[in-house]
Amino acid sequence: MEGPVIVFSYRHSNTIPKPMEEQTTLINQTKMDSVPKPSPWGKPPQQSTPIPSCLQDVMNEQLSEEFIGKEQKNVFDTFESENKGVDIDTLMAVAGADETADDELMARMLQLEYDKQNDEELLAKEKLLNKHHKVSISFENYRSVHPAYRDDEDKEEEDDDYQPPKSPWDKKSPSFKKNGTTGSGKNIITKHDKVICGRKNASKLMDFPPEFHSGDGESMDMQLSNKIYNKLKRHSDAENKRHQKLHEKKEHSTAGQVMDARTRLILYKLVNNGVLDSISGSISTGKESVVFHAYGGELNGETLPKECALKVYKTTLNEFKNRGKYVDGDHRFSRDDYKKQNPRKIIRIWGEKETANLNRMKKFGVPCPHVQVLKKHVLVMSFIGKDMQPAPKLKNVKLSTQDMQDAFEQTIKIMKTMHRDCKLVHADLSEFNILWYEDKIWIIDVSQAVEVMHPAALEFLFRDCKTMTSFFQSRDVHGVPTPEELFNDITGLDIPGEGLEFVAQVQRFQKEKNEELLAHQMTLTKEYAFDYFFEKSQKERAAALDKLGISDDEDEDEVVEEEPEEEEEGPIEGEDKNESQD
Ligand code: ADP
Ligand code: MG
Repeated sequence: MEGPVIVFSYRHSNTIPKPMEEQTTLINQTKMDSVPKPSPWGKPPQQSTPIPSCLQDVMNEQLSEEFIGKEQKNVFDTFESENKGVDIDTLMAVAGADETADDELMARMLQLEYDKQNDEELLAKEKLLNKHHKVSISFENYRSVHPAYRDDEDKEEEDDDYQPPKSPWDKKSPSFKKNGTTGSGKNIITKHDKVICGRKNASKLMDFPPEFHSGDGESMDMQLSNKIYNKLKRHSDAENKRHQKLHEKKEHSTAGQVMDARTRLILYKLVNNGVLDSISGSISTGKESVVFHAYGGELNGETLPKECALKVYKTTLNEFKNRGKYVDGDHRFSRDDYKKQNPRKIIRIWGEKETANLNRMKKFGVPCPHVQVLKKHVLVMSFIGKDMQPAPKLKNVKLSTQDMQDAFEQTIKIMKTMHRDCKLVHADLSEFNILWYEDKIWIIDVSQAVEVMHPAALEFLFRDCKTMTSFFQSRDVHGVPTPEELFNDITGLDIPGEGLEFVAQVQRFQKEKNEELLAHQMTLTKEYAFDYFFEKSQKERAAALDKLGISDDEDEDEVVEEEPEEEEEGPIEGEDKNESQD
């Protein structure tokens, strides 16, 4: 499309030249008047007198005005033919045009054209966006052309008259008289008619929350009896309530990346007190914990490692409900105590258990993270990895044959040290809980690790042996023993058989050993001096807090408001019940 022709008219003087005779008279008059001569250094006199021009100029000017007028008309005509529907007079009015505002008028006309094009594009986009959606988005506010100058004005008026087609339910429900009936004689229908009520109920079903899958009842002319409708309504209300409850529960937990207020406060304090410089972000979100990377600060005058890992045990108990077996029988965390504790305290036990186990492993030189500090259910330990990159899990790392062989030998050695020196069984040892860093195996995730005297310790150990031998076998490592061989090698026992028979033998042996151990409780205490002192220190701490009249939950860190007792989640068993009821 060719654009309109722009004509730039030159500006002429507005002063109208006077006739010749008049001018001569004026000059003579000026000569005759004895006006004092102005000082050459004074202000120049203001030129009020018109500049004389000759007739030729006047004629030329009139001619050019005529010429411009013609040209303007040509431009408008061209513009109008190219832009049908745009009223030139309206444009003139919009522009407030006078004979001398040609440029402005043209600019306005062009702008209007441009705006229209812009609006058309917007409308096309709007159409495309709303194509298949029930809810439409309007770009009305972004349109530039005033409704009065829109070409689609008529269309909109048409749209106003638009009436949605009547739904089958609308069509089928007759209007009733004041007495609640319609029709006459044999065809009389009351408002309590079964079909009409059924449709009404079905249509009300469509107003249930979106989570309630009601289907498209309208197109199939669904009808619901009052009884069924009421049942559905009750169910929907109950579901709604449950959904809200679940949502609230989530908000109070450390599920996923979201943390509860208590956890946030602990993390905030760790940073605020300078224990940590900063917390960078999460490394892993497991079933039982969320692990973060952090930069270490200072604690009691000692510098923490530059990079730290922060393990936050989740405060939702769902994942911990099956973990009683790891505590049950561990004399450090007796089952009775475990039962009595409230869930938050139970979670703290896991932090304490992991701390104790890691410390013991460190003592005997097992490569593992070093505990820096434990605050409630938040454990700060050294970071295995560099520059925020955690060391890869053995499962994911690609190792040369030699390195894999090394990894195997190191793992076996560690398993032996853990059993013989640390008197611990990992109980969840796998390629997921072993990291590979600086050509070394690092053992992590020991919150569930148990003492060798645990009633199921040997069973757990055999399970670990099975997992590790099958992993290294899958990586074509040479000289991988059978799980039974490895078990006997680690324990120094000589249990015969294999597979299920071996397990049965292990259980029998374990039972005998437990009975023996119970009979010699005193020897036990001496033998496991670490546990003895651990328990002792725990008791002393509790006694000291008691003396001060502070409950364990109200020690110096507990600034967070205590939740009212009734809001506390019940013990694990209670929690389980709740879950199943839900
Ligand atoms: P979970 O009980 O959730 O499995 P883990 O202790 O196994 O918790 O930690 C989960 C993940 O977090 C690990 O697989 C590892 O990638 C990372 N991680 C845990 N502790 C450390 C650490 N000290 N240094 C580096 N990464 C760690
Ligand atoms: Mg793990």
